Amino acid sequence: MKKTLLTFCITFLLLPLLAQKEGTIVMNDVVRQHYRQEILIPDIPGYIALKCDFHIHTVFSDGSVWPTVRVTEAFEDGLDAIALTDHIEGHPKKMPGQKRTQYEVALPSAQSYGIILVRAGEISRSMPPGHFNALFLKDVDALDVPDVMDAIGEAVRQGGFIIWNHPGWRKQQPDTTKWMKEHQAIWEKGWMHGIEVFNEKEWYPEAIQWAMEKNLAITGNSDVHDFYENFYDQNKYPIRPLTLVFAKERTEESLKEAMFARRTATLFFNKLVGKKEFIEPIIRQSIKVEAPHLYQDGYAYFTVKNLTDIEFTLVKTGTDKSELPDRIVLPRRATIVIRAKQTKGQEMVYTYNLENVLTGVEQYYEYKISIK
Ligand code: ZN
Repeated sequence: MKKTLLTFCITFLLLPLLAQKEGTIVMNDVVRQHYRQEILIPDIPGYIALKCDFHIHTVFSDGSVWPTVRVTEAFEDGLDAIALTDHIEGHPKKMPGQKRTQYEVALPSAQSYGIILVRAGEISRSMPPGHFNALFLKDVDALDVPDVMDAIGEAVRQGGFIIWNHPGWRKQQPDTTKWMKEHQAIWEKGWMHGIEVFNEKEWYPEAIQWAMEKNLAITGNSDVHDFYENFYDQNKYPIRPLTLVFAKERTEESLKEAMFARRTATLFFNKLVGKKEFIEPIIRQSIKVEAPHLYQDGYAYFTVKNLTDIEFTLVKTGTDKSELPDRIVLPRRATIVIRAKQTKGQEMVYTYNLENVLTGVEQYYEYKISIK
């Protein structure tokens, strides 16, 4: 009986599994599915918060990757817009005979993924005045001229948006970050529209100051040369450095309008920097404090929710008898429960600084927790 059962099992259950079809067998499940990891940063009233990286290199200058790879990375990392800003001059082209066709190479891919691709280039000169990204160009080749002012002037003539890149780059400004007479001249002509507060792994407090004083758009960009995930620690920081642009629509035209109107901010590795008029509505929609769900033994228990991908750190500014923590870390996409010494019917306001949110040099965004 046992033998019959075994024979039955081998014949009808196991044999079909062991059988091989002839020819090619495709293992579709071994291929990685490509998907977009959306970045949770709220829109603000009247505007969409576009997530952008305006400083990226490819093999068309000294980068390691083909332009279409930058598009795939941008899609997967949740970006809305990118600019391929290969050095216009000063770097030997890795592919002799190639024209500056990085935009043309990447465009069909960008269109199919729905990524806004900005035609751009990096004017790369020694300091002063240093490096400048020119965005929304029509003809990048026309900027390859000996004089830097001619190059910037040509970009402006084409309707370009000019960003002073990494103003405190240690290689070009080793001791202090200075605004030199050459920068003053460019700015006075109305030829400097934005500045990088963050670049690659550096940030520059002076650039925040200049952005505020001189009405420059605040930007923060990766300046990535290698594969993105090969350079940054994405386990530690899952969100790319971003320039946030508050645009009326998700189109290149709208993006350009918003940038010239200076409606920007930057997020880099949990630091959010921008003018208060844009930071305030973001914070209002990012952190939610709910009414207490429990009063017990003289304490009110309530939840604080973080609806974003930004980890916030709250530091208490005053002293009070609330027994609230002096320092609260609010992880991304998380809810925490805290308690305050407070009885039902009391209305209390506690003031914290958001240590990772700046609206100026050492100006931390003041966040009030009000409970009643
Ligand atoms: Zn660069």
